[in-house]
Amino acid sequence: MNTVCVVGASLAGLLTARALRAQGYAGRLVLVGEERHRPYDRPPLSKDFLRGAVGEADLALEGEGEELGIEWRLGVAATGLDAVARRVTLSDGTSIRADGIVIATGAAARELPGSRELAGVHTLRTLDDARALRGDLESAKRMVVIGGGFIGAEVAATARDLGLDVTLVESGTAPLAGVLGHSMAEAIATLHERRGVRLMRGAYVTELTGTERVDGVRLADGTHLPADVVVVGIGAIPNTSWLEGSGLELGDGVVCDEGGGTSVPGVVAVGDCAAWFDPAQGDHHRIEHWTGARQRAAVAAATLLSGGTARPEPARPAYFWSDQFDIKIQFIGHARHADSVTVEEGDLADHSFLAVYRQGDRPVAVLGVNQVRLFTRWRRHLETAPVQAG
Ligand code: FAD
Repeated sequence: MNTVCVVGASLAGLLTARALRAQGYAGRLVLVGEERHRPYDRPPLSKDFLRGAVGEADLALEGEGEELGIEWRLGVAATGLDAVARRVTLSDGTSIRADGIVIATGAAARELPGSRELAGVHTLRTLDDARALRGDLESAKRMVVIGGGFIGAEVAATARDLGLDVTLVESGTAPLAGVLGHSMAEAIATLHERRGVRLMRGAYVTELTGTERVDGVRLADGTHLPADVVVVGIGAIPNTSWLEGSGLELGDGVVCDEGGGTSVPGVVAVGDCAAWFDPAQGDHHRIEHWTGARQRAAVAAATLLSGGTARPEPARPAYFWSDQFDIKIQFIGHARHADSVTVEEGDLADHSFLAVYRQGDRPVAVLGVNQVRLFTRWRRHLETAPVQAG
């Protein structure tokens, strides 16, 4: 293999490039990234970076002095893929012919219609988004956050810590209910309410109001919530539109086998854009968490270098963390497979507890809230006794 082109210069792309070198690949390595920044870490964007506790230099993902021999093509987007010729076309009119291609284009924040036309309305996915939001927070007094997923709940917590009057509008029963299940998500809801976030559950935003600059949102029942800044946190969409017509199988992301191999030989996909086959669950799905990209980069590199013959180790259950206020939330596994959930340590009301989700007697997921040591033990347990499909 003489040339590998990695498309997407962020966590998954950089880690795969690093893994390719670590696994002995010595050829040309081109990294194409639409953003003009060198790879940076996104989790702090909704937390410490937004509150001003860390600066841009602290976000760098490359190690100090790290030299991977990468040919950087930053500020340029891939616009198409000829999968047979293995040629990636770029937005600057050039193209790259490669023997191996890594697709690591991640995901983009889902937007609400009209949100781009109004100043003061933000999504949060990139460093540039975070800079813009941070700038607005300096003068804002009232924030409405639309959506109680991870980004929404984290931004609401950070803004509240900064002293803003924050309303979180969630269409479901509680923030994070889709991932944690209703009973445990209730503890997160209480946390937000106790810290002064006004939580509107089962509420739908139908309109962003204001001319030129947003002045609030209107709900389906007619209620108007005034705001100087609005954050839309309604999920993310995999960045795969540039692959349409390439012949690559696409679903909710690039459809991959359990080693990251796509439907086309010599092309692998990894990170938030990739829907790997999960033998334990019996389906393809994307994992939109930092650790998913980290665990899979080396597997994708091995798949590419071996021509698809490398045997991946059994996948570990998905793990994520989220920091809200001074609380660390950690979760491993899938709540949807559980028929019971019990608090095994601590107390929901104190926001320090560990809960185990079980299917029959078998643990299938674990939630730790400010229980890092105990959670780590359970995490090891679940990783060595992987969750099976129910
Ligand atoms: P991305 O990081 O999305 O990177 C993809 C890159 O590809 C981007 O730079 C994009 O510009 C580029 N790209 C897209 N299309 C093209 C194209 N056509 N051509 C060239 N380049 C392209 N996870 C956790 O587990 N815990 C957390 O606390 C947490 N917090 C988060 C907070 C925020 C604000 C965000 C946004 C994410 C957070 N995550 C968290 C998720 C984690 O950051 C992602 O899972 C991770 O960034 C995925 O990495 P990736 O490289 O697959 O995709």
